[in-house]
Amino acid sequence: MTKFIFVTGGVSSSLGKGIIAASLGKLLQARGFKVTIQKFDPYINVDPGTLNPYEHGECYVTNDGAETDLDLGHYERFLGVPTSQANNVTTGRIYQTVINKERAGEYLGKTVQIIPHITDEIKRRMRLLAQNNEYDIVITEIGGTVGDIESLPYLEAIRQLRMDLGRDYSLVIHLTLIPYLRAAGELKTKPTQHSVKELQETGIQPDILVCRTEHEIGEDIKRKLALFCNVEIEDVIEAIDAKTIYDVPNLMLQEKLDMRVLSKLNFRNAKTVNLQQWNNFLKKLKNPSFRIKIGLIGKYNELQDAYKSIHESFIHAGAANDCKVDVVPIHSGNLESADIGSVLSGLDGVLVAPGFGERGIEGKILAIHYVRENKIPFFGICLGMQCAAVEFARNVLDLKTAASTEVNANTDVPVIDLMPEQKKITAKGGTMRLGAYACHLQQESKSFHIYGNREIFERHRHRYEFNNEYLELFENNGMKPAGVNPETGLVEILELTDHPWFIGVQFHPELKSTVENPSPLFVSFVAACKTYKYDNSKEKLAINA
Ligand code: GLN
Repeated sequence: MTKFIFVTGGVSSSLGKGIIAASLGKLLQARGFKVTIQKFDPYINVDPGTLNPYEHGECYVTNDGAETDLDLGHYERFLGVPTSQANNVTTGRIYQTVINKERAGEYLGKTVQIIPHITDEIKRRMRLLAQNNEYDIVITEIGGTVGDIESLPYLEAIRQLRMDLGRDYSLVIHLTLIPYLRAAGELKTKPTQHSVKELQETGIQPDILVCRTEHEIGEDIKRKLALFCNVEIEDVIEAIDAKTIYDVPNLMLQEKLDMRVLSKLNFRNAKTVNLQQWNNFLKKLKNPSFRIKIGLIGKYNELQDAYKSIHESFIHAGAANDCKVDVVPIHSGNLESADIGSVLSGLDGVLVAPGFGERGIEGKILAIHYVRENKIPFFGICLGMQCAAVEFARNVLDLKTAASTEVNANTDVPVIDLMPEQKKITAKGGTMRLGAYACHLQQESKSFHIYGNREIFERHRHRYEFNNEYLELFENNGMKPAGVNPETGLVEILELTDHPWFIGVQFHPELKSTVENPSPLFVSFVAACKTYKYDNSKEKLAINA
C-alpha cells in the first residue's frame, strides 16, 4: 500500500519546500522506491494558467496538458518521472468540483460545508495518485505557510487522512526558518516554535523538522528545537543554504532525512543509495572547462522564475557540454530604441523566450534580424519561433507588412495566425493547445541529427501557429519546416539552412529537460554557442586554469 509524506511550511514563504520535497523524492528513488510528488496550492484560481508570470513565475505544462505550478518542474527535473493533471490541485479546483456536484444534486439536499465536503474532496485528490498502487510513496507539498487562512482546510484534511490511513502510513515534515540575528550573533528558534505550535493547534504534530538556515545549527539548537517542538533530536534536520539546488539531495543525505523518513514509515527494504548519475552531473556542473554567455530575450526578465525551466535547461545542457552558461537577461522592451549590435556584443548565442501579447515583439524581431545576419547561434521558443518567422518574411522575403495576428489582427501578411480550433474559443483557462504532441522530423534536418529520432514528443502551450500558406515560399528561400505534427501539418520546427545554428520551435523543450536527461536541443544549442565563441576567438581558456 502506498504511504504518504506531507510537507508543510512555516515562518516564511520561499523557503524551498519544492526543492526539499524533490530532494527527498530523489533520495527515496535512489534507494529503490517508486515516488511521485504532488502540490496542493491554496489559491482560488482553478489552475495557474491564467496567472501573470510576475505573480507566480512560470506556468509549467505536463504531458497531459495541465497548466501547473513551477514546483512540478523541479519534481520532474529531480526525479525524471513525468507529472500529470493529478499532481497539482488548487483550492479553486476543489471548490469547482464540490460546487458542480452540488449543482448536480449529488449532495441530496444536505448543507454543503468546508468540513466534511471540501475536506473530503481534498482527501480524495490527495489519494488519487495512490489509486493504482503505482507508487510506494506519494509526497504532497502544501503551498503557502502554516497560519494562512487558506491553508486550514488542507491541514484539516491531512489530520483526518492520517487517522484514516493509520500508523506507519503517513508522516508530516515541517519546513521552517532559523533566522540569524547578526547584532546578537545568534540563531533564533522562537519563530519555529511558534509555527510548530500553530501546526499543533490544527491537530498535527510534525514528525520531522527541516530547518532552513544560513549557518550550521549545531547540537544545542537541535536539542532545543526537539524539546520545544516535541520531536526527537534526530528528526531536526538542518537545511543549510546550498550553492546550487542540485546539492540539496546530498545535503539531505548527510543529514539522514531519507533514513529518518523510511524508519518512521516502517519501510525495511531500502537499498544503498545510488546517486551515481546525479553526482556525475554535479561533478561536471562544478568543474567546467569552458564558459559562454547566452542572451535570454524576454519581457518578464525582472523575475528569474518567469523562465525557470529555461534557466534550469541551460544548467543541464551546460554540464553536458563541460561548459558554464552565463545567461544574460535582456529586456525585449528596451531593444527597440537600442543599438542592437552593442547590446548583443559579447554574446555567444541568443534565445528568444516564449510569451504572449504585443509588448516587446518588435525588439525581439530586431534582435533576430541581427543574429541571423551575423550568424550568431539562435534558438527561438514558441513566441521566439513565431518572431523568427515574421523577421524572415519581412527581411528575406521582403514582405514588409508581415506580422502575427496576435500583434496585428489586420495584417495582409499573416505568417503567424490563430489555429483554426482556437477561433471559436473565448474562455481563458486551459483552452490553449496544451501538452505533448507528436512531431515528425525531416531526415535531412539538423533537428533530426540532434534528436536522433524521426518522431519526438514535446509539450505545447500556444494559440497561434505558422500559417502554412507561406510554407513553400519560406522553404524555397531557406527556412525549412524541420518538424511537423503528423495529424495537422502544423509546423513545429523552423530551421534556417544557411546558418550555423538557427532553430525555432513551436513547442517548449525546456519543460522536458531533466538532470539525467537534458533536452537534446539545449545541449546542441550550447555546443553551437561554445563553437561560436572558441572557434571564432581561438580562445581556449579553461575557466578553472
Ligand atoms: N503567444 C503565442 C501563442 O499563443 C506564443 C505562446 C508561447 O510563447 N507560449 O501562440
